[in-house]
Amino acid sequence: MTDTIDIKVTKVEQSRLTVTDFSQLPFGKVFTDHMFLCDYEDGAWKNPRIVPYGPIPMSPAISALHYGQAIFEGIKAYRQPDGKISIFRPEKNFDRFNKSAKRMAMPEVDKEIFMQGMAELINVDEKWVPSQEDYALYIRPVMYATEPYLGVKASDTYTFAILTTPTGKYYTKSLRVKVETEFTRADDGGVGFAKTAGNYARSLYPFEVAKKEGFDQLLWTDAQTHEFIEEAGTANLLFVIDGKLVTPSVRTTVLDGVTRDTIIQLAKANGIEVEERRLSVKEVIEGIENGRLTEAFAAGTAATVTHIGVINYNGKDYQLTDPETRKVSNGIAKQLNDIKYGLATDNFGWNWIV
Ligand SMILES: *Cc1c(COP(=O)(O)O)cnc(C)c1O
Repeated sequence: MTDTIDIKVTKVEQSRLTVTDFSQLPFGKVFTDHMFLCDYEDGAWKNPRIVPYGPIPMSPAISALHYGQAIFEGIKAYRQPDGKISIFRPEKNFDRFNKSAKRMAMPEVDKEIFMQGMAELINVDEKWVPSQEDYALYIRPVMYATEPYLGVKASDTYTFAILTTPTGKYYTKSLRVKVETEFTRADDGGVGFAKTAGNYARSLYPFEVAKKEGFDQLLWTDAQTHEFIEEAGTANLLFVIDGKLVTPSVRTTVLDGVTRDTIIQLAKANGIEVEERRLSVKEVIEGIENGRLTEAFAAGTAATVTHIGVINYNGKDYQLTDPETRKVSNGIAKQLNDIKYGLATDNFGWNWIV
């Protein structure tokens, strides 16, 4: 970062920090005192500012509400042993945010606005970054269309905001998941690779159905044949088959996860062979049955590394190995955690100390 921007800071009169119970932090419900805002109009980003967290006045006609021009990111900041704060690979999220923006016909955000906005917000709310084990500050950049106009077109105006929320573990146990063969999350030529609101909206009903059936998550399959595993909808999927790390390749329908990429790099550094390719449901199910598939997990910023305990396919449960025995994923999960929390040397330059 070379350029710097002037961010106007308006602080809260009374912090909510003292009345916040850090032992009770459901994901994404408790927000820090402040948020970052910036407006796009007349072709430029204007008025970057940090203000007290709270409602934003808007017209009920804004196009984000009607036509769904809305994108977001998910990043985490970790408290280091020396008290400093490190954000994990935020430039990857910045790049992906602008890829999402482009696909949704939204303006790209300037790098200094994204990076400096995030860093200054975290400095203002520094005390909100938890120091308990497995806790972090979740950072949620979001952009949405604000033009009050009911014609269907790309909006002329947008708001870019960054919210932050202290958080503990997302999942605490291994997951029971269902291979989804009726509904689809994404299709070729669509927007599955973008972190855009509609992808999550369309997955909510299938997820509600699965939840009623006792599942924690879905394994989405390709829209055309339902024969190939894609991802989990908020996390990528990785498997260990014949000792190799196998993960569905990134494509229009599979989001290019930062955690996925990080795990691939760590696996390679550990001398583990990695295969990014199409992976059929058949191969996964047969692998469980004949013992060649020894591990399965979901990987994402919010969920980190979460073991899959049971995969259900066509109404039948397939039980996987005991998560405690899974050497590859447990080993990599620990390495990853140690780097994020500053407990191991960051040879990859992933930590951005703010
Ligand atoms: C955010 C997300 C992931 C995980 O990406 P990370 O960068 O690792 O957090 C995977 N799939 C979808 C659809 C997502 O929205």
